Amino acid sequence: MNYRNTYFILVLTLLLAPFFVSAQEDYKTLSRKDSSKMYISSDTYQVVKYETTNFKKHPKNVIFMIGDGMGLTQVFAAMTANHGDLNLTNFKSMGFSNTSSSSDFITDSGAGGTALSTGTKTYNGAIGVDVDKKPLKNIREIMEDKGKATGVVVTCAVTHATPAAFVAHQTSRNYYEAIAKDYLNTNIDVFIGGGYKHFAKRADGADLTVALKQKGYQVLTKMDDISKVGSGKLAGLIASEHVMPVDSGRGNMLEVATETAINILAKDTDGFFLMVEGSQIDWGGHQNELHFVVSETLDFDKAIGKALAFAAKDGETLVIVTADHETGGLAITSGNTSKGVFGANFGSADHTAVMVPVYAFGPGAELFQGFMDNTHIPKKILQLVKK
Ligand code: MG
Ligand code: ZN
Repeated sequence: MNYRNTYFILVLTLLLAPFFVSAQEDYKTLSRKDSSKMYISSDTYQVVKYETTNFKKHPKNVIFMIGDGMGLTQVFAAMTANHGDLNLTNFKSMGFSNTSSSSDFITDSGAGGTALSTGTKTYNGAIGVDVDKKPLKNIREIMEDKGKATGVVVTCAVTHATPAAFVAHQTSRNYYEAIAKDYLNTNIDVFIGGGYKHFAKRADGADLTVALKQKGYQVLTKMDDISKVGSGKLAGLIASEHVMPVDSGRGNMLEVATETAINILAKDTDGFFLMVEGSQIDWGGHQNELHFVVSETLDFDKAIGKALAFAAKDGETLVIVTADHETGGLAITSGNTSKGVFGANFGSADHTAVMVPVYAFGPGAELFQGFMDNTHIPKKILQLVKK
């Protein structure tokens, strides 16, 4: 090969590199130009109401639920779609969280997840590291140190930004294979989501599922098998990359995975910490697809229903629901609650700067009322958990 050819190939590789690196970020591609949409109710369900009086003084267990891209409008859109009711209406303590990152007025999910997991603002793209790229201890690790069982349940790859912020320490959210390897440096008990290829089909040729099995994990790839697990360590990797959207047939995976994880983790008498993410609400926002946004928000609310059912009975479980940021600048412009119908407009194909709601249920829920910074949320949780 002569010099000119080598040069040409080098330039071509550099030009194409971003496409290879960001293959997992395909959901950010806006396919439609028309931003005004109509939602017609297609999925309605009954909401159970829970009494909120018999809580212990301090939480032993924490279920931290993050709707990626779920602003107040996404919640209201889902509520209207379900004819005016959601599991979220059981929450009596609410506040607002400022989501900006250290580098940007508008955060990404790396910095947003890291703020929620470590209580420290960092630069966009960071995973569990500070502005100097030094590792920050996350709340799941702190709970693990307290002897509690811990878990992560998501509908994206478990290596994606939000779950990664609760497990890994990497200078970039794009280092999926390094993030997968970081799972092996933890004692996390349960993780369920996609991302199988980052464990088993890696550039370095390693098969991390072998190492996971050696560490005592049941490595399972089908929800039917995962849902039957009642104890022990569990790595549920049900998709090569992200799990498919609800609108493409994901079914009730998030609900089942949430319930399964709670059942397993609750066996630890020291208590547990579980992070659940409705990962794809954000993707509907990026794509300005109203039905995508609403179906994912309703799906997340059903998982919230599973967390509430456990917490209401248990009395020692704090459930926090919030978002890392809003996505899509969603506005509801017309509607009819009794019909579950509304019109909406998107003002952006990206994240927006608006504050996001924070909902709290269980011991200490009052602490989450009022205005707060996203970094205050894990600090407040840790302030409440006494041992
Ligand atoms: Mg996310
Ligand atoms: Zn996003």
